[in-house]
Amino acid sequence: MSILQKHFPLGLGTSRFPISGPNDTEGIEKSIKIVRKALDMGITYVDVGFNYSAGMAPIVLKEAFQQTSTPFTVTAKVMYGQDRTADEARKRVELYLKTMGLEKAQYFTCWTIWNYEIFQNIMKKGGIYEGALKLKEEGLIDHICCSLHAPPADILKIIDSNAFEAITVSYSMLSAANLKPILDAAYAKDIGVTVMNPLGGGVIAQNKDYFSFACGDKDEGNTIHAALRFVKAHPAVDVVLGGVKSEKELMDSISVFSKPDPEPPAERLERVMHSVAELKGFCTGCKYCEGCPKNIPTAAIMQARNALLFEPAATYNRTEPEELLYHIQMFRPLLHDEGWLPETAENPCVKCGKCERQCTQKLGIIDAVADTYRRAEQTYFTKEAHKERLRDLLYQKGYKKVGLYPNGGFSNLIIRLYQEFFGTPEFEWLQFNSDPKTWGQMADERIVHGPKEIPELQPDMILICTYKYDQDILDSLREYEQYGVKLEKLHRKEEMPWVF
Ligand code: SF4
Ligand code: SF4
Repeated sequence: MSILQKHFPLGLGTSRFPISGPNDTEGIEKSIKIVRKALDMGITYVDVGFNYSAGMAPIVLKEAFQQTSTPFTVTAKVMYGQDRTADEARKRVELYLKTMGLEKAQYFTCWTIWNYEIFQNIMKKGGIYEGALKLKEEGLIDHICCSLHAPPADILKIIDSNAFEAITVSYSMLSAANLKPILDAAYAKDIGVTVMNPLGGGVIAQNKDYFSFACGDKDEGNTIHAALRFVKAHPAVDVVLGGVKSEKELMDSISVFSKPDPEPPAERLERVMHSVAELKGFCTGCKYCEGCPKNIPTAAIMQARNALLFEPAATYNRTEPEELLYHIQMFRPLLHDEGWLPETAENPCVKCGKCERQCTQKLGIIDAVADTYRRAEQTYFTKEAHKERLRDLLYQKGYKKVGLYPNGGFSNLIIRLYQEFFGTPEFEWLQFNSDPKTWGQMADERIVHGPKEIPELQPDMILICTYKYDQDILDSLREYEQYGVKLEKLHRKEEMPWVF
């Protein structure tokens, strides 16, 4: 029996609270009510990251937890890159606990493991995992878990390592064929499984008619309910995370899990997977096309291109143009889940036809691959384009200090890529963040500064490296231009985020 089996099957995701920022008191109040309601209704697993819901999720939770005596469990997430050592992991957990007003977090999560190499870094002597073991010994956490965005083969190796008592994976009927071996492996080892993105990152909710085949006789034509039941139908899945933005959404999801599945889960699993395999033009992720002599990840590309079959959803703070939304939905899983970012936009396919001959769905893989490289060029989705961007923005500009705003995944990547492309910079990196909680803290071996320190620190330029809020940040920093600070955005209008 896994450590998560005791939980109500719906977990509370906290990344979609209706909060626009730290001053949105109405949104914060609404979110506190959502959490209270969730706990009152029996939800016991609360998933939180420090940056969720404009960074306000931990604060919302603190308020909600103080107003209730119902039992709950909570995560403390530590990401390799942001933190690297056992000490940094400890500090991060202490910060979570302090912000949420808690004595302990039940689940320590090694957050967003992208590949096996990151896993190995986490496991190094003096590293994050060692920190987690120490925290467990001291009773500040109970269980060591991880969330995985790695290629399936890497995930299987990580499961095999027996390092984690529970894993969080992205799973829906869109990725079911791909994830099945992973869920089977976790189940065989009694490793707990939490599922994120049960609605395929919004694709299923946006295309209810297309996915209505998921409904069986007893789902009353409700595609969302059928999709949630499908995810829970695999016996490995303990908790399905629902990121809710209203009480109405919360209650709807709770209604699905408050009673047993009206269809035997094994039958549901087989029925839906069979229907997915029958979809016209839809890649099932079966991977029979793999083994390209040019190392093109055909299955991953074709699966990601499923997004082109549906209406795109507004995402990453972008509502248009439609083509951009399609590109985000298509390239996101390629980078996020597969780590695929082509070196250049040149299509290496030699049209040998091996992939198409093996495709169970008879898909036009050769044309699709060519189209994918064309789109990669259009959206600067190549390593070469990233190198040229950093050259244009930073290389040999005579800068003495360059500020990155905000610190986090993007800034870490920029520092790493600059070093890889051009060697040690001739300027000093500075890191800034709008969140007062981070000011004065060390992140990736550098102090985090608040914007008010800009006149004193005098960076020559500040590179706004986030994607979601780049325009908001640019507007908020305009006042510092009077001190001679140049402001630049990392991303161009049509571009894909460098980090998803
Ligand atoms: S046709 Fe192109 S993509 Fe398919 S296996 Fe051959 S080289 Fe790879
Ligand atoms: S063989 Fe066809 S259906 Fe299967 S993963 Fe490859 S492209 Fe998708």
